[in-house]
Amino acid sequence: MDWMEYEFPCLYCGDRERPRTAEHVLQKGLGAEMILPEDVCDECNTKVFSPLDGDLIRYVRTIAYCDHPDVRVTRTFLQEGHPLVLQDGAWISVRVERNTRWVILPQIVFLGGGRLQVSLDTSAGKDAAVALLANMQKELAEPSTLNPLKTTIVDNRQSEVAIQPALIRSAPRKYCVRAHTREAADEVAADVATGRLLANLKSLSAADDRTYERPGVLTTLSVNLGHIERAVAKVALNFICKIAGPGTARNPAFDGLRAFALLPILDGKNEFVMKCDRAEADNASFLSKLAVEGHHSLALLSAGDIPCVFLALYGRPFMLVRLTSGPAPGVLPQNPAVVALFDYRNKTHEIVSATDAPLAFIRRFFVRPSDDGRPNEVR
Ligand SMILES: [Zn+2]
Repeated sequence: MDWMEYEFPCLYCGDRERPRTAEHVLQKGLGAEMILPEDVCDECNTKVFSPLDGDLIRYVRTIAYCDHPDVRVTRTFLQEGHPLVLQDGAWISVRVERNTRWVILPQIVFLGGGRLQVSLDTSAGKDAAVALLANMQKELAEPSTLNPLKTTIVDNRQSEVAIQPALIRSAPRKYCVRAHTREAADEVAADVATGRLLANLKSLSAADDRTYERPGVLTTLSVNLGHIERAVAKVALNFICKIAGPGTARNPAFDGLRAFALLPILDGKNEFVMKCDRAEADNASFLSKLAVEGHHSLALLSAGDIPCVFLALYGRPFMLVRLTSGPAPGVLPQNPAVVALFDYRNKTHEIVSATDAPLAFIRRFFVRPSDDGRPNEVR
C-alpha cells in the first residue's frame, strides 16, 4: 500500500503510517456491526486485538453465558475451545444445553495403541444408546455416503493428559474429527474412509464397549482471563472514539487504558485490572436497567468525574470499566449518558442519548410496561 498519512494516529499505538483496518467497536463475533473505519492500525487490530477478541468470545460462549438460550443457538458445532471433559483418562467432547447441562456427543475416542473407546449419552436409556451405536456402525460401513468430515484442531498444550483424537457424530451421517494436530486428524479421516475404523470397532470385545453416564468432571477451557479484561478495555475506548469523537479518545487521560489494552499484564499490578468490575455492574440497579433483553448495551457515563463504560451482554450486566485511574474533569462532555443498543439477532444498533432526547431515554430504559399495558410512572 502507498504511504499515506491519516488524520489521526492509531488510537492505540499512535502509529501514523501503517494501513488501517476496520475495527469493530464491540466484537463482531457477538453479532455487533458498529465499526471504526480507520482509527486502528492493521498491526494493533490483527496482531494484538484478534487473540483478545477470540478469548472474550470464547469466554462468553462457553463459560459466562453458556446457559443463555441465545448463546446456545448461535453456538457452532465444535468451535475451537469447545467443552471437553476428562473421564477416566479419556477426553470426551460434550455439548452444553440450557442451564449448563452437559450432554455427551456420540463419539469414538482414539486412546492410542490401537485402543478405541465409544462414548455415548445414556440419559435416554441403555437401549437407545445401543441402537445409536448400531446406527453409527451402519453409517461408517458406507463412508462414501457421509457428509464431508469437518475437523477441529484443539489446543493440547494446557492439559496434562493429551487430548486424544476422536470421531464425533453431530447428526445422522455427519461426523467431525477432533484432534490436536492436522496429521492426527488426517489419520482418523483415513481410518474412516478405508473402513479400518469400522473393522477395529467391530473387533472390540463386549467388555471394551463402554458407555458413560453424564460426566461430572469439568475441565477448564483454554481462556486467558487477562485477555478478557483487556478486550473489554479496548471496547470501552473504541466506544469513546465512536461517541465522543476521535480527538477525545486520544486524550492523554486515557493513556493508561490504552496501554492496558495493548500490553500483557506483566506483574499483575496494572492499575486498570481492578477497574474492570463485574460485581459492581451486577449490583448497580441503575446500570442493570440499561441491560435490555435481546441486546448488548454499551453505555458511556461519568461517575464523580471518572469516565466509565458499562457493558451488558445478552441482556445481562457484564462489566463496568473506569477509564481513568482518578477524576478527569472535562475529558468527556458534562454528565454524559449515551447508550448504544446492539440488536445481536438482526445485527443492527441504535444510539439513545440522555442529553439529546431525555424523555426517549427514560422511556427506553426506566419505564417498563405494567401488566395492563400502560407504562409505569417514572420513579
Ligand atoms: Zn496501532
